[in-house]
Amino acid sequence: MRLSRFHLHTTKETPADAELVSHRLMLRAGMIRKLASGLYTWSPLGLRVLRKVEAIVREEMNRAGAVELQLPTIQPKELWEETGRWEKFGGQLLKIKDRKEQEYCYSPTAEEAITDFARQELSSYKQLPVNFYQVQTKFRDEIRPRFGVMRSREFLMKDAYSFHLDDASLVAEYENMKAAYSRIFTRLGLEFRAVQADSGAIGGDASQEFHVIADSGEDALVFSTGSDYAANVEAAIAADPAARGAASEALRKIDTPTQKTCEEVAALMGIALLRTVKSIAVMSTDNQFVLALVRGDHEVNEIKLAKVAGLNDYRMASEAEIADYLGSEPGFLGPLNPRKPIRVVADREVAAMADFVVGANEKGLHIAGVNWGRDLAEPEVADIRNVKAGDRARDGGELKITRGIEVGHVFQLGRQYAQALKATVLDQNGKAAVMAMGCYGIGVSRIVAAAIEQNHDEVGIIWPVSMAPWQAVVCMINPKQDPTVTAAAEALLAQLQAAGVDAALDDRGLRPGQMFADMELIGIPHRIVVSERGLAAGTVEYRARNASEAENLDQATAISRIT
Ligand code: ATP
Ligand code: MG
Ligand code: MG
Ligand code: MG
Repeated sequence: MRLSRFHLHTTKETPADAELVSHRLMLRAGMIRKLASGLYTWSPLGLRVLRKVEAIVREEMNRAGAVELQLPTIQPKELWEETGRWEKFGGQLLKIKDRKEQEYCYSPTAEEAITDFARQELSSYKQLPVNFYQVQTKFRDEIRPRFGVMRSREFLMKDAYSFHLDDASLVAEYENMKAAYSRIFTRLGLEFRAVQADSGAIGGDASQEFHVIADSGEDALVFSTGSDYAANVEAAIAADPAARGAASEALRKIDTPTQKTCEEVAALMGIALLRTVKSIAVMSTDNQFVLALVRGDHEVNEIKLAKVAGLNDYRMASEAEIADYLGSEPGFLGPLNPRKPIRVVADREVAAMADFVVGANEKGLHIAGVNWGRDLAEPEVADIRNVKAGDRARDGGELKITRGIEVGHVFQLGRQYAQALKATVLDQNGKAAVMAMGCYGIGVSRIVAAAIEQNHDEVGIIWPVSMAPWQAVVCMINPKQDPTVTAAAEALLAQLQAAGVDAALDDRGLRPGQMFADMELIGIPHRIVVSERGLAAGTVEYRARNASEAENLDQATAISRIT
């Protein structure tokens, strides 16, 4: 690849509205450009990275025995009504009408569509188990799209769905997918952790998330040094009725209006604030409001929360109803204003367990019940480490907290979708059996941003080799247009390519400083500089992106550093 014929467009300015380093660097490197809120164009440079991630995901999915197909992104309302998710999915579901007034949605996930395929294609247990996957654009109308492609509205997801006759087969495939995910993130060169998770809007039984470890991550993860226990904070709380109960109890005692902020509560508790779990309204079908959890300031996972709240039958309140309920502006769905009193809700128990401050100190993880409409003079603290005492205390380990970016999620769905859509096969006895399902997602586009959060310095991105736009760049310093310099650089490029290195030639004719700054910003792992002076001395200059110094080496040695 000759960069003079490519399209690179880097900028020095730091975009003002980009909060995260990955967002800033992706814009400065010219990897993405914003079209509209949550909608991004992947430039030729950005797309090279995205495709590398996609290729590794695809290779490992194939290696694990999954088979690729492709489902439509636009899906009919009727299908989503069969599972009840046309209503239940909430505001993230983008609904569309065609010219005949037929209604559709843009797929935010594809359990319905794949199960429809399965009920047509699969008729015998002999066809099972099978795992279908796609790498396909998704759309979620996120309340607060932000951080560039980290939380966009349109994004690229690998989603896989497995079908089984019995639960043992589902569990085996779930384990198989977990192993495949570990291979994927290891090959991508990322520091990651698998944690227990809540199964969320997708529903189902067992579920684990894969997180790229980064301080900027939106999720707080809890793990033990004494065993392999690791969970995201929501799962740790949800899995622990005792912790929830203690927080509820604390809330019940609180009765006068408060003016305290989350930070003040954390300070009172003597903890570092990890997360505020705030509230939005979910309405039950008998028109009673209850509160559900919303994490930090990103969107509530409505169905999970309704489940935690013990509601089987409910609908999302409209924005206007929520606004009325919260006494806030219409359209406001973000974190609650801690100063706004909340009206007393019908179900105190649910309200009580709905508001938490989650924090940690050296003694472990703590949650406190907080209700912003009530006083919190002496916050009562439920110490998860104590109420989790059994397993986690016995492992003798220490509870630690870290932050992560969710890049993958695996679920054992069980039979709910197959049941709703009547996806059955004939079993060994010729009887119709509802299939068990698993589903397995990876945020392909989010991985690109997450990798940058983990791998950068003050001058730019430091790509892991596996996902770099090019593994190596040959920079040509040739102000006098000396044909021997050009020839030597081209020969070196050819040699690298022959050795299987994805290499580029920077023949744009820029001054060295500008050229090096660009290559450092866009994060190319290996750089070789060919110059007249070097050629005279029989050397080229080699520098690894993460090394502090460049070295003068003979060509063969320089190449051996890369291959
Ligand atoms: P989050 O908790 O970050 O909102 P999610 O739990 O809603 O994610 P899943 O339904 O588990 O997401 O989807 C599978 C994967 O798709 C996620 O693990 C994540 O990597 C990715 N993903 C989800 N939402 C977005 C988004 N808005 N932008 C980019 N990637 C996303
Ligand atoms: Mg989400
Ligand atoms: Mg999530
Ligand atoms: Mg998830």
